[in-house]
Amino acid sequence: MFRLLLIAPPGGGKGTQGHQLAVDYGVPHISTGELLRDHVARSTSFGTRVKPYLDRGDLIPDDLVLGLVQDRLTKPVVLEGFVLEGFPRTLDQALTGYAWASELGLTLSAVIHLTVSEGELVRRLLERGRLTGRSDDTEDTIRHRLALYRRSTDPLLDFYRDRQILVDVDGSGPIPEVTRRIREALAAKGLTPVNAGRAGRAGRSDGTTESQ
Ligand code: AMP
Repeated sequence: MFRLLLIAPPGGGKGTQGHQLAVDYGVPHISTGELLRDHVARSTSFGTRVKPYLDRGDLIPDDLVLGLVQDRLTKPVVLEGFVLEGFPRTLDQALTGYAWASELGLTLSAVIHLTVSEGELVRRLLERGRLTGRSDDTEDTIRHRLALYRRSTDPLLDFYRDRQILVDVDGSGPIPEVTRRIREALAAKGLTPVNAGRAGRAGRSDGTTESQ
């Protein structure tokens, strides 16, 4: 089964690529950021609780995000395949998630790590902030989120590198080009799309660059 984790810094394209890859490989796309923003938009009690963290660009507590992911992956049915992004964000989350996923037979097939330069990330996030008004896409919060990412994510990358399932992919440039690079990296691991026709036309036809 196709169980992919996308790791990328804020603005690194994990949301955009996650949507496309989920279509190509015929599995659901699960984004903790999207799930959390949805709760905030619907003003659920969970959303009210996590909103201050999101607004500040801080990580929400591990138990809250873990519960969210576990619910999404197992209710109402266990999802055998998925494209996951946004979780895990720290080594602790990865270790807890791995122990839990092992019991259910839901460990990852591959991890794609998208790399993008800091300047490019800030440019993309400021542009997204202007276009969408997303509360955490302001200059100070962007710098804070990027610093937090650098601090917490490196140990995470080593964890997957040691398990030999991590592939680094250049996340710069036009969206379809990045999708093509990811598909190549996955094909090298024996993972091929189910929707090959669509996958060949991945991304925006105008060749614009990543916005997330
Ligand atoms: P993202 O859309 O992935 O950039 O996530 C947006 C925000 O959601 C983050 O800045 C955090 O506040 C929160 N968030 C998403 N995933 C996690 C996670 N795994 N652990 C803690 N907080 C998270």
